[in-house]
Formats: sequence, structure tokens, C-alpha cells
Amino acid sequence: QTITILDVPFVNQRKSEVVQDLYHQYIKEEKKALVVTANPEIVMQAREDREYHAILKTADIIVPDGIGVIIASKMKKTPLMERVPGFELMEDLLALGNENPISFYIVGAKPEILEEAVQNLHTTYPNLHLAGHHHGYFQDDDETIIEDIQRTKPDVILVALGFPRQEKWIAANLPKVEKGVFMGVGGSIDVLAG
Ligand code: UDP
Repeated sequence: QTITILDVPFVNQRKSEVVQDLYHQYIKEEKKALVVTANPEIVMQAREDREYHAILKTADIIVPDGIGVIIASKMKKTPLMERVPGFELMEDLLALGNENPISFYIVGAKPEILEEAVQNLHTTYPNLHLAGHHHGYFQDDDETIIEDIQRTKPDVILVALGFPRQEKWIAANLPKVEKGVFMGVGGSIDVLAG
């Protein structure tokens, strides 16, 4: 099921299978998850940063984001099936949320960028349920956001703080919630803002 590259275990599934698993095994079951969309930069960061590496080891799903990871898997003669770009995985989850009762929460990006992205989301996915959102310029010990997530109980939490901060923030806060698929999405909210 997983293929390990430089001690980072990647899930060997097509993007569509990852989406279905997230929906049926985590979201519908109200389970928690840390999802990492790992590109070569993330894999290299894990080699230098023990704490970050340990967090990746606890991730529920790590998808290969970037052709470099796929090439590395082929060189090892354990090829991964398909590249799973983080932005596309996020888009597929949002599309699923437009058709199904899945609530989302967004953490990250600059305040005005986030507002633009939220407006665009409502236009592109009119049925999407956004439980809340908060910009990404806060102190790590600020509990306001996680308290809002505890209160609004979203199914999917998109965390756009850039790596490694986003995965570290998720790992620190996952024990405080009852459910939720948490996924680091890097600069994706900036892209959504256009
Ligand atoms: N960001 C944030 N808080 C911070 C630093 C960054 O919310 O303290 C946001 C930033 O506004 C951008 C995203 O995190 O939306 C980082 O994007 P980047 O492309 O650098 O991330 P990567 O894809 O490299 O992880």
C-alpha cells in the first residue's frame, strides 16, 4: 500500500482512490487524519528536520506531489502509480463537498487573499459548506483557531501556512479535535484567490 522514499512512506494510489478513501474511510466515519502532499522539497526538509520527519511518520496519508517523487520511485524500481498534486487533491475534495454534505474550514494565507479565495469558492462551488476560515498570520500558541474548529466541527480543514509550519501546526492540534481531515495545502489558497 505504501512505497517509501528516503524514509517517507507514500501511498501508492491513484488520486481518485485517495479522494474516495478520504471520503468513505475518514470523512463519513468521522475520523481524524493528517494528509501530507509531499513534494521533493518536503522530503528533503524531513532529512534535515527530525521533528518534521517524525510528524511525517505519523501522517495517515502522504501523497506524491511532484514528478520528482515519481521519478525517485521509478529509480528505486518501486514505481508509484500516479502523481497526486496537492492543488488537484484539494480541488477534488471541494468538488465532492459541492455535491455532498462535507463542511470545510480554511486556515492560512494573508487576510485579504483569504477573503478573495472564499468569495471565489462560493462562486465555483455554490453548495459548499464553509464552517469558517482564519488567516495564517497568528502566533503558534494562539488557541483561537483550534477553538473555532472544535466548535464548528468541520470535516475537512485546509491548512495553508507553507511547509513545514502547516504540518507542525496540524500535528500539534490534531489531538485537540474529535474529527477532521487536516491537509497542508501550501500556497493553494493564493491560487484560489487568483
Ligand atoms: N502563510 C501564512 N502564514 C505564515 C506564512 C505563510 O498563512 O506565517 C501562507 C502564505 O500567505 C501562503 C502560504 O502560507 O498563502 C505559503 O505558500 P508557499 O507557496 O510559500 O507554500 P509552499 O507551497 O511552499 O508550502
